[in-house]
Amino acid sequence: MIHETLHALGVGTLWEADARVSLSGASDERSLVTRSAGRFYYTGARGVAAYRALGGRGDRIPLDADAGHWAGSTVCSEILSGDAGDYTGRVNPVSPITLGALEDLGYRVNRAAASPYTLPLHGCGVQSAPAPTKATPPDRRPVSYASCAAVRAAGAAPLRRGDPGYRAGLDGDGDGLACE
Ligand SMILES: [Zn+2]
Repeated sequence: MIHETLHALGVGTLWEADARVSLSGASDERSLVTRSAGRFYYTGARGVAAYRALGGRGDRIPLDADAGHWAGSTVCSEILSGDAGDYTGRVNPVSPITLGALEDLGYRVNRAAASPYTLPLHGCGVQSAPAPTKATPPDRRPVSYASCAAVRAAGAAPLRRGDPGYRAGLDGDGDGLACE
């Protein structure tokens, strides 16, 4: 929803010079996108500055093939990532990069409203994988029976030496088999 709202505000949709007029109605010839070796890059100064402040390298930000989203491999789950749809149901931070892109379009932005965001400099890693299912830890409560009656009531009789709850006190004849 925020993602689409950003598009409606022009982020990713009004980056090409021929698609944009300024808020005053004048034609705005600045293109915020450049193409190099078949790939698109964002060149807006505020967005790039935010990108570099987060550790991004270069003077432009890699874009997806549609030139309207940050490259998914660069920003991973960020709100305007080309792969944002892969992160549905998880946090899609509105990073300072996207706020910078809003500023590049002429909006005034409250930068303090940026989401906590770290540029993933070493790939998306596990973030792009399906959320791992947490294994339920095995029940480690120590088993203790007060008497053989309790063992039988629990359906655990007979107990072999080494079984949870086995103790010499329950094994009257000491043959390694308790409550037989
Ligand atoms: Zn989009």
